[in-house]
Amino acid sequence: MSGQEVTVLLIEDEPEIRRFLRTTLPAHGFRLYEAATGKDGLTEAQARNPDLILLDLGLPDLEGSEVIRQVREWTATPIIVLSARDQEQVKVAALDLGADDYVTKPFGVNELLARMRTALRHIAGPPGEPAEPVFTLGDLKVDLGRRQVFVSAKEIHLTPIEYKLLTTLIRYAGKVMTHRQLLKEVWGPLHVEEGHYLRVYMRQLRNKLEKNPAHPRYLVTELGVGYRLRTE
Ligand code: CA
Repeated sequence: MSGQEVTVLLIEDEPEIRRFLRTTLPAHGFRLYEAATGKDGLTEAQARNPDLILLDLGLPDLEGSEVIRQVREWTATPIIVLSARDQEQVKVAALDLGADDYVTKPFGVNELLARMRTALRHIAGPPGEPAEPVFTLGDLKVDLGRRQVFVSAKEIHLTPIEYKLLTTLIRYAGKVMTHRQLLKEVWGPLHVEEGHYLRVYMRQLRNKLEKNPAHPRYLVTELGVGYRLRTE
């Protein structure tokens, strides 16, 4: 993939599959985090707030469905289930609980990458609407499929956090997002009190995207409440 780096959390107890993905996914531009148990997976998910989760359904400590349920309590980040061939019922239950897709083991890397791209495209758009591949606002253009950001047709490099902050605001474009909502969506539920993260990254984002960062046209402060991406 081109553009900003995508973070992926793999929750899987089989060392062979972890080793396989550890070599293949970074080669395709993904940053990989790993957990070998459901409990560690939930901790990592909260700490890393990954862009996508790959979840094995047969974990030693927790049911995969329990992992999905707990993750879905706080984030809509896409979950792709890795399931064995004979787990038809479990697979359906996983989708009902809010998993986005599944691949059946053994899977090839191309199949997995295709599923991952699809899942990532779906979250790029506003909730409930078909994904809009390119978001444009004045001289700002964000290609959500390729994860590229342009100001006046010049490509801007954003860090993964800056990019996530921007796309979160795009997802709720025009609406006020509170500090807590933004901290939860971008950094994860363990960081909702870390208001200084938000101030630092918002300043960086404005410096990169706004003509006059002190008087932002797009990334507007809602005093005492949060921020809003102005769309008019
Ligand atoms: Ca397993």
